[in-house]
Amino acid sequence: MSSSHEALENARHTYEQHVRTCRQCHADGAACAVAKLHLRAYNNARREHMRSGGRGAPTG
Ligand SMILES: [Zn+2]
Repeated sequence: MSSSHEALENARHTYEQHVRTCRQCHADGAACAVAKLHLRAYNNARREHMRSGGRGAPTG
């Protein structure tokens, strides 16, 4: 098990959970400021995961 993978899963879960439950995201049909923060954390975690030799698709 790698901690970077765990962080990636956590960040993704947090982001998806937010989008699913956030009224503003639904109202606008676009990511709100908080969602963007979560998305950025998710992207960072994903980059960190890739750098640490994470397996999977090379892009996105
Ligand atoms: Zn939102």
